[in-house]
Amino acid sequence: MSTTLKDVLYGQVREGAPELWEPIDKNRIRCYSCGHECPIPEGQAGVCKVRFNQDGKLLVPWGYVGGVQCDPIEKKPFFHAYPGALAYSFGMLGCDLHCAYCQNWVTSQALRDPSAVSPPVKASPEALVKDARRLGARAVVSTYNEPLITSEWAVAIFQAAKAAGLVTGFVSNGNGTLQVLEFIRPYVDLYKVDLKSFDDHHYRQLGGRLEPILRTIRALHEMGFWMEIVTLIIPGFNDTDDELRRAAEFLAGVSPDIPWHVTAFHSDYKMDGTPNTPVETLLRAAEIGKQAGIRYVYAGNLPGSVGDLENTRCHSCRELLIERYGYRITGYSITADGRCPKCATAIPGRWAQKFDGQIASHPFLPRLVSLS
Ligand code: SF4
Repeated sequence: MSTTLKDVLYGQVREGAPELWEPIDKNRIRCYSCGHECPIPEGQAGVCKVRFNQDGKLLVPWGYVGGVQCDPIEKKPFFHAYPGALAYSFGMLGCDLHCAYCQNWVTSQALRDPSAVSPPVKASPEALVKDARRLGARAVVSTYNEPLITSEWAVAIFQAAKAAGLVTGFVSNGNGTLQVLEFIRPYVDLYKVDLKSFDDHHYRQLGGRLEPILRTIRALHEMGFWMEIVTLIIPGFNDTDDELRRAAEFLAGVSPDIPWHVTAFHSDYKMDGTPNTPVETLLRAAEIGKQAGIRYVYAGNLPGSVGDLENTRCHSCRELLIERYGYRITGYSITADGRCPKCATAIPGRWAQKFDGQIASHPFLPRLVSLS
């Protein structure tokens, strides 16, 4: 009998962190690594398909990556965290949602969709961090699949990354629990949440619920993670004025300093019949965000077409602070202590002492070295 991807992955596991699961009764355990909080019977996996109950213990993914890529940090996107930094980005396999438009479906849906194949590569935290440093990365980021469901492995890598002086981040759907956020808090600096909709019915179409996402966003802010929010605007799915306004008002209510990226959808995966997002829709969404009181609204995925909405301006005096074209930084004037040079207002974010240029303004695949 041939070895399946599932066989390979089920050999790359270890016991889950005790903070992230508990027994329910003789046959079932509960996982707290994401907002599904799955009760998992003996011998079965949770909704994500990568965490499973074996002999009354939760086994979780460990010791591999599904892919590594070097991205400008602007691609994550983080616009208020170390502009120009190279983000060494890794993913594992699997996801707790199943969005029909996923742009990383080869890794995220690996165990759910037979046409998604991405072979895992054995890796160790030390080798990954060494590779990140060799390439000049300032940040190490868990992305491409949902990082919450593989939090133990991300934390192991981030412990090594922090010891090497690097910044760390999650690029996540935000379907978290208080348990998992407490677990990752000492090791994760930056956190991007995809707020995919502001309608519970839409979230259920993607395999989730709205409430855990909103709870996670509130908690991330209260716990002091640096957070940026992305809403991919999909024509006919989440682009009404009413839905966008409710999302924007919620975010402004958590904090007007949380940057909101409204980004353009490109036909992909199972939604290749849906048209691309027109620029007018992005501009309308951005205007709704500003009217709701969000101080930093950006329009993404259409470089050169959205005017000033790729740039950062001081929310107090409107001085131009960071100029961008796509992921490329073309101007930078924030002071060493993170202020506007004109009016001295503190600009929310995590800032380097100075802008050191960019190693890359486009993603690239690093030359292969041993990662284990
Ligand atoms: S990570 Fe989420 S989907 Fe996976 S087993 Fe845990 S609670 Fe269930």
